[in-house]
Amino acid sequence: MRDFSGDHAWLSLNTATVREQRDLLQIIEACARHEIRAISPWRDQVAVVGLEATAAAIRRHGLKLSGYCRGGMFPADAERRQEMRDDNRRAVDEAAALGAPCLVLVVGGLPHLSRPPSAVSHDIALARSQVEDGIAELLDYARVVRMPLAIEPLHPMYAADRACVNTLAHALDICDRLDAERSGALGVAVDVYHVWWDPDLYAGIRRAGRDRLLAFHVCDWLVPTRDLLLDRGMMGDGVIEIRKIRAAVEAEGFAGFSEVEIFSELDWWARPIDEVLTTCIARHKTAV
Ligand code: ZN
Repeated sequence: MRDFSGDHAWLSLNTATVREQRDLLQIIEACARHEIRAISPWRDQVAVVGLEATAAAIRRHGLKLSGYCRGGMFPADAERRQEMRDDNRRAVDEAAALGAPCLVLVVGGLPHLSRPPSAVSHDIALARSQVEDGIAELLDYARVVRMPLAIEPLHPMYAADRACVNTLAHALDICDRLDAERSGALGVAVDVYHVWWDPDLYAGIRRAGRDRLLAFHVCDWLVPTRDLLLDRGMMGDGVIEIRKIRAAVEAEGFAGFSEVEIFSELDWWARPIDEVLTTCIARHKTAV
C-alpha cells in the first residue's frame, strides 16, 4: 500500500468539492497554487467556462485528470431516448478532449426523476434494464473513441433519482455481461461514500481486479447525515474505514489518484477555497 503521509502526490480534487466558491478556471488556479496534480471536473462546470478554455488551463498547469463527471442518466421514455444518447456521446467526446482516463457514469434511477420530463414510471426493474441497454450502446461509441466507462454504484438511498445500480456486485455483473473479455473499456468507480456499508465490498473489490478498478473516490460518512445529497464529510470526520478500503483497492493493483469528492452545502462549500484545499491535503495524509 502506498504511503500517503508525506505528500499529496496522489490526491486528485473532484472539482465539485469547491464548486460553490469559484468557477472551474479559478479552481484550476487554486489547485496549481496548492500543488494538487490532478482534478476530476464536472460537465456543468466545464460548460460555464468553455471546453477549450478548460483544456488550455489543464495543459498550462500540467494537470492530470482522474476522471470526468459525468455521463449516464440512461432511463428515459421513448421521446427522450435520442436526447439521452446524444448527451452521453457528447460526454464521451468532452472526456476525450480533456484527456480524462475515464468517463464516470451515474446511471440514473426512475426515468421521470433522472431524465425529466419523461413519463412517470415506478418500474425499477425496467429502469435497470434501460441502464444496461444504455451502457451497452454507449460502450460501442466509447470503444471507438477509446474512452473507458466507469460505472459508479451509488448508495441505495439514491436508487429512485440518481442511480438504480447500488452495489459493486451489480455494477460488476453489468461489466461482465457487456465486456466479458475485460478489455479495459468498462469498469467501476469505487466511491467509499457509496459502498462502505456493503458486507460484500471486499469480495467485490477482489472480483473487480485491476482491469475494472478505474477510479477511487474518498470523503466520509457523517453521523448524523443531515442531507441525503449535500452533507458529505471531510475524510477523518466520519465512520468510513477509508484506509482499509484503499488498501484493498491497491492490493488489486490500483495505482491511480485518490479523488476527494465532497458535496457539503452545510459546511465545506461555505468555507474559503484555500481552507478547504489545505484541509483536504492534510486529511489525505492522515485519514486516506
Ligand atoms: Zn464519486
